[in-house]
Amino acid sequence: MNATIVAVGSEMLTPQKTDTNSLYVTDQLNALGIEVVEKYVVGDDRLRLSNLIVYALGHSEFIFITGGLGPTEDDVTRDAVAIALGRSQNISQDICDVIEARFRRLGRRMSEVNRRQANIIGGAEILPNDRGTAPGQWLTGANGQIVVLLPGPPKEMKSMFEAQCLPRLTAMLPPMVIRTRFYRVAGMPESDLDQLIAPVYTRYTNPVTTILAAQADIQIHLRARCATADEAETLLAEVGSQIEPLLGDRLYTCVGEPLEACVGAMLAARGETLAVAESATGGFLGERITQVSGSSRYFLGGFLTYSSEAKTQLLGVPEGSHPVSEDTARRMAEAARERLGSTWAISVTGEAGPESATDMPVGTVFLGIAGPDGTRVTRHYFLGDRARVRIMSTQTALDLLRGRLTAIS
Ligand code: ATP
Ligand code: MG
Repeated sequence: MNATIVAVGSEMLTPQKTDTNSLYVTDQLNALGIEVVEKYVVGDDRLRLSNLIVYALGHSEFIFITGGLGPTEDDVTRDAVAIALGRSQNISQDICDVIEARFRRLGRRMSEVNRRQANIIGGAEILPNDRGTAPGQWLTGANGQIVVLLPGPPKEMKSMFEAQCLPRLTAMLPPMVIRTRFYRVAGMPESDLDQLIAPVYTRYTNPVTTILAAQADIQIHLRARCATADEAETLLAEVGSQIEPLLGDRLYTCVGEPLEACVGAMLAARGETLAVAESATGGFLGERITQVSGSSRYFLGGFLTYSSEAKTQLLGVPEGSHPVSEDTARRMAEAARERLGSTWAISVTGEAGPESATDMPVGTVFLGIAGPDGTRVTRHYFLGDRARVRIMSTQTALDLLRGRLTAIS
């Protein structure tokens, strides 16, 4: 089933304001198995809007329109929909009374223009607005298309969608459950990943597969919609059992948790502990690790040694050592491990840019992992700006530790 969303409002055609209502509506509709096939932003223009609705009525089963239900001359949604459907509008005295009572409660008098908001298109069901004045409207077109008018202010729109639209939609759709599998993969470019798994997922329309790539972290969402939970799980298992072996140990979760949570769970399960020594990432690695609730079970603490002096004073890095070097990264990891008495320690030192403070090219990062099986330092070269180099450093460091934990499990 297909839907069109229309956001009405000239302000959303300016650089200052973006349409966010459609994101919420899309999310809600997708969860019900309705696919949003197009969305539009239209200014407060009666004719353009009615033409667009006529067009959408020709091919969409659902049309959701947000905004333009206010009382002023530039609120044209009701008129445009009435024109598109070839119907008249009538003032509902009941709605007038509701709006008037709302004004009275707020200690104000309803002005004559507000009566406009009580204009109801022929055949519409009224959707009460518990957060504002303008009611929404639910209409059925000549060929059974559903046309829904929702207010523009996001709070009013969401509240109305939940209270009024969801029950109507679920009642008219076949019973359906949704089950998802949420894979995450570290250390792989998106294009390589897609090449690897596209031959599998493109053969299925159910589950639907979406791939979201962030820095050094790719999410793969499988979403199965079926009449029963068993059927949905069977479909997920069928596709999942083909994708998982292709990803191998690059796959770090099937339930969508972030890398720091996976590594944390591995440490907690083994009764082991972790410390960090950070230079280039300035505490970002520790921040990520401690984002996870319960991280105190395995995270002991760390050293934020940004200057060479701090590296020497706090971690005993010999004076005159190159701050961005394999030796420094090794010493940092080993000292952090010794001084905090942890099972494992991660060190990060590098050049995040934009200018290099040493003779090392921007993007050069040394990552050290010290553990019961010794210390290993790897040299990396991350492309991109400062923010990206820092994210890549933490992500890669966590993934290296995950690799070590897996190898000696
Ligand atoms: P009102 O009775 O408040 O005039 P309305 O239904 O006419 O309600 P609009 O005038 O179109 O709605 O929008 C009111 C406010 O809601 C806008 O100023 C804007 O901040 C917000 N808004 C409208 N549409 C959207 C949208 N699609 N996404 C995000 N915000 C929106
Ligand atoms: Mg308005």
